[in-house]
Amino acid sequence: MPNSGRMSVESIRYWLNDRDHYPPVYNRFFVHWMLFNSYYSKYEDGDKEGVMKFAEEHGDTLWEKGQIQAVPKELTEIECVGKGKGENPPHPEVKSATVFLRTLLGIEHDRICLQVCREAKRRKCSNLRFAKRADNPASALLRIVYQIRCNLFHGDKLEYDGPEAQRNMSLVNCSSGVLDEVLKYISTLEPRGTE
Ligand SMILES: [Zn+2]
Repeated sequence: MPNSGRMSVESIRYWLNDRDHYPPVYNRFFVHWMLFNSYYSKYEDGDKEGVMKFAEEHGDTLWEKGQIQAVPKELTEIECVGKGKGENPPHPEVKSATVFLRTLLGIEHDRICLQVCREAKRRKCSNLRFAKRADNPASALLRIVYQIRCNLFHGDKLEYDGPEAQRNMSLVNCSSGVLDEVLKYISTLEPRGTE
């Protein structure tokens, strides 16, 4: 079975075995993402492209008007978001987005990496090139949230009772906070021409 198939079977088993204790914050995130997905699918370009096109079109207004500015501090003060499970370093785009937001917020990337990130992750991360993609704060934020969503949906982050439980809960909670602002913003858009 391909890796993603195996992980999805594991995720499904995990959910079936413990559905009564599934943390509300995870459930909230899934609903948030589903609703956001129903909007960005209009770009008809796949998940990541849809999210990034949304950010390109609405990111500046979303950042200025919404309460979204309050969210990234917590998200960027915890360990860098990696690509998948454990000590994997971030995707280069996620690294760029993280450094972009930290710089904006006056948080020193090297300090967080040195003090908070796991050693193996930090070592691999420091060799990563930047991949410029996000050019507004909201799109940087959404690139990171998209990565968290991938890690979750592919079953990598479904450890809500393991050693990474607290960090995972925090990541999912922050992501939900971002998506809540995104949905509030979308709800103010004129429906005509957007369907
Ligand atoms: Zn780091």
